[in-house]
Amino acid sequence: MHTVELPARGATTSPSVRALPQHCTVCGAEFEAAPEAICGSCLGPLEPMYPASRRLPGRAEIATRVHSMWRYREWLPFEGTPTLSQDTGFTPLVDAPRLADKLGVAKLWIKNDAVSHPSLSFKDRVVASAINAAKALGLETVGCASTGNLANAVAAQAARAGLPAWIFIPDNLEQAKVLGTAVYGPNLVRVRGHYDDVNRLCAQLADRFGWGIVNVNLRGYYGEGSKTMGFEIAEQLGWRFPSAVVVPMAGGSLLTKLHKAFGELRDAGLVTDEAPRLYGAQASGCNPITRLVESGGETLVPQIPSTIAKSIAIGNPADGVFAARAMRGTGGWSAAVSDDAIVAAIRLLAETTGIFTETAGGATVASALALAEQGRFGRDDEVVLCITGNGLKTLEAISDSIADSPVIAPRVREVAALVEAVG
Ligand SMILES: *Cc1c(COP(=O)(O)O)cnc(C)c1O
Ligand SMILES: [Zn+2]
Repeated sequence: MHTVELPARGATTSPSVRALPQHCTVCGAEFEAAPEAICGSCLGPLEPMYPASRRLPGRAEIATRVHSMWRYREWLPFEGTPTLSQDTGFTPLVDAPRLADKLGVAKLWIKNDAVSHPSLSFKDRVVASAINAAKALGLETVGCASTGNLANAVAAQAARAGLPAWIFIPDNLEQAKVLGTAVYGPNLVRVRGHYDDVNRLCAQLADRFGWGIVNVNLRGYYGEGSKTMGFEIAEQLGWRFPSAVVVPMAGGSLLTKLHKAFGELRDAGLVTDEAPRLYGAQASGCNPITRLVESGGETLVPQIPSTIAKSIAIGNPADGVFAARAMRGTGGWSAAVSDDAIVAAIRLLAETTGIFTETAGGATVASALALAEQGRFGRDDEVVLCITGNGLKTLEAISDSIADSPVIAPRVREVAALVEAVG
């Protein structure tokens, strides 16, 4: 591991790094770098614009760089060298042969963002990108509307950057998501309602208070951080693609950005394989993107979420239409699974791979099993499951399903009785 410089509180002025300008992904209008995420003319989403002439590194040059998401810095939305959250990314890609057998595929790997640094979910990647954008744009306060993991990531990364944070969450989140945010000392506000209500509130707050709300007015810069999970999968496989990737979906941003990342690797000549088929995973209690894929339409129908998979419970997903297009366009599909299936899959992943994931990861594993059941994978498939969050954050979800452990006196005789009972 490398060491990390922690900047002093307030040391965020005179940016040595510039955020790239943005353009509208719908009408193409161009905008100077700013905390704006929506096109002034057509309301389409904005995305950073990379200079066509920029020099891209090859495989060998990337190999010499530090193991973090910043080894792919040419594909992140900055000019100059970002300084905050340098140690996020480059999580393990873990071979999971026993789960491959369950799915009936040739190979299966877990991309394990359950151990993402610093806050144990893939949201560290998007926040690492957004917080550097906030700094570059001279914003002195950051914030987010969160289903839990984003709150953890913003609170942790704002704390070490010395930036005040305003964090808004639904009032019914898991204890670890709440305490695991509050411990970093942000302004944490619980809002009566669902994520979609929290998000609507934050859209009104960003302009009013001049905050950088990472997934609202900094969303264009935020989303680019997700691409690094895709770059890492390809590099960790030896600069090639798996044939299929299964991705949990909340707003649909991660799946959309993985699609973009795989396209960028091909454009750069770093990988020459055909891009993987992309499969989405949701809970049945909040499955608007899966419904959209199944319907074949272009119009997403919002829902009121009701599932234990709170981190992916977004009823009106901002990138749902783009995610659905990416799944259909790559020959993939989407699945949604019950809360019982999510709990069973959390245990299956733990028992077969030694990885403890949260409810979103349970939805991913259970969806992969459902897709296999539907015959969507072949014997030759090489599949990556994106495990995006840590099981210690959603203990409530499994506590009822795990049997109590025996309590004994410290005597060999009592252990012998247990060994005999186990057989
Ligand atoms: C936020 C989140 C996702 C998916 O996020 P998108 O909004 O679809 O990018 C997946 N898994 C976990 C654990 C999350 O917190
Ligand atoms: Zn536009």
